[in-house]
Amino acid sequence: MAIAQNILDIAVAAAERGGAQKITRVNVVAGEMRAIVPPQLAFCFGVAAENTIASEAELNLEIVPVRGRCRGCGEDFAIKDFSYICPGCGGRDIEITGGTELRVRDIEVL
Ligand SMILES: [Zn+2]
Repeated sequence: MAIAQNILDIAVAAAERGGAQKITRVNVVAGEMRAIVPPQLAFCFGVAAENTIASEAELNLEIVPVRGRCRGCGEDFAIKDFSYICPGCGGRDIEITGGTELRVRDIEVL
């Protein structure tokens, strides 16, 4: 719920800065690490957006996979099923380089 409110606040602030009357779509980039359940977030967003200029906005979520870089051999790879093992050398010293973000990429307004 806090995440939905946060996204809404960012979208509304951006729309108001641009002088928009209505937000029609909010494009959000969410890392897999955030463990977001899209229908749940969309529902919470809808509730939070009631009586705001985003009340009819569609929430579009783009889920970004978790990525890691091996400190041993430098291999950059997508981490699947939270398996932090380098596919290049089998090393386990992995730096997380992506998949933790959560941001509003852009909004569409009227
Ligand atoms: Zn490696």
